[in-house]
Amino acid sequence: MNTYQVNTDGYYGAFGGAEVPEILRHNLHELTTRYREILSEPAFEQEYRELLHDYVGRPSPLYHARRLSARYKATIYLKREDLNHTGSHKINNALGQVLLARRLGKTRIIAETGAGQHGVATATACALLGLPCHIYMGSTDVERQHVNVERMRMLGATVHPVSSGSSTLTDAVDAAFADYCGHAADTFYVVGSAVGPHPYPALVAELQSVISAEIREQLMQKIGRNYPDFLVACIGGGSNAMGTMYHYLSENRTRLLLAEAAGYGIASGQHAATLSVGKPATLHGAHTLVIQDSAGHPLEPYSLSAGLDYPGIGPLPAHLVSTGRAEVLAVTDVQAVAAARELTLLEGIIPALESAHALAALPLMQLKPTDVVVLTVSGRGDKDLGTYLAYPQ
Ligand SMILES: *Cc1c(COP(=O)(O)O)cnc(C)c1O
Repeated sequence: MNTYQVNTDGYYGAFGGAEVPEILRHNLHELTTRYREILSEPAFEQEYRELLHDYVGRPSPLYHARRLSARYKATIYLKREDLNHTGSHKINNALGQVLLARRLGKTRIIAETGAGQHGVATATACALLGLPCHIYMGSTDVERQHVNVERMRMLGATVHPVSSGSSTLTDAVDAAFADYCGHAADTFYVVGSAVGPHPYPALVAELQSVISAEIREQLMQKIGRNYPDFLVACIGGGSNAMGTMYHYLSENRTRLLLAEAAGYGIASGQHAATLSVGKPATLHGAHTLVIQDSAGHPLEPYSLSAGLDYPGIGPLPAHLVSTGRAEVLAVTDVQAVAAARELTLLEGIIPALESAHALAALPLMQLKPTDVVVLTVSGRGDKDLGTYLAYPQ
C-alpha cells in the first residue's frame, strides 16, 4: 500500500489539486484520463525507452565517488544526471511530455523557463520531433542566461521575453498560462518540474522515476542490495528529487533528504527555502507551500542558483515533508559553492550550482562508516562557471 500516490482529486494529503481557469479544464481532464494508458502503450514505451537510451544516453552511471567517500567516511554514490544530453535531468521529462503531446495530436508546444535548462530541454525535444516551440522567459533571466537563450534559438524555438512583475520565472509561468488559455485546442504546455495543476506533478514524477528505477538495479549490482541508507537530492520544484526517490517512498530503510536553497540564510529573508518556512497557499494551479509575506503574497525568492529560485514547491515533496517521510536541509549560497569546489577538486566533476546544494548536505549529515548514500548530481556546472570563478573564496 503506497500512501504517496496522488488521489483521484489530484491531491497528496493536503497538497495539490487543479485550480485553473474553466478554459483549461478540458485539456487537464484529457491529460489526466489518458496519460497513464499512453505511457504504457507498447509502441509509446518503446520509442521513449529507445530515445532515453540512444539519444539521452541512459542509463546514467551510478558512480562510486571514492575520494568523496573517504572525506565523509561513508560509501557515497553519485547518480550522474549531469551526463545526460543537454546536461541535466530535465531532458527525461521534456522528451516524455513532447512525445505525449504528439500522441495527443497537439501541434504546438509551449513552456516556461527560469535558468533556461528546461527551455533548452524542451526546444531540443521539439527539434527532434519537428514541433514548433515557444518558450516564455522573464526578461531579467533572458539577460542573465544568455547562452541558454542562444541555444534555444539555435534549436529553432521562439523565445518570448516577459517584462512584468520582477521579470523572472513566476512572471514567465503566468505568461505561459495566458498563452495556454488562448490556444487550448492545439497547444501542449510542457511543465518543467513536479509542480502546477494535477496531473502535472504526478506525470513529471513518473517520467523522472527512470532515475530511481535505475538506482535500484545499479545498487543491486554494486552492493547486493537495492536500497541505500540515504537518498539525497536538491529541490527547486522537486522533479529530480521525486525522480530519485520515486521507487523508495515506501522503503522505510531509506532516509530521504531534500536540500533546498537558503540563499543568504533563512534569517536574512533572502532565500528560496519553501519547505522550511513556506505556508499553505495556491500558486500556479496547485495548493502547496509558498514563501509569502504576512499579507499572504508570494515573496520574491532568492538563490544564487537560478534553478532553485522559485517561491513554491511541488505538492508531493510538501506532503512528504509534512508527514515526516522526508527531511529538509536548508543550504546557503556559501555552503553550496564550497561543496561544488570540493567535488570538483576531489572527483574532477564540476556540478551545477543546483546540484551543489545536495552535495552541501554531506557535511550536515551525521554519517556512519557503514552508511550507503546515493546523491543525485542533477546537472553539470558549465553554465555556472562564471558564478563559481567570481565567487569569493
Ligand atoms: C531545474 C534544475 C533543478 C531544479 O529543479 P527540480 O525540479 O527541483 O529538479 C535542479 N538541478 C538542475 C541541474 C536543474 O536544471
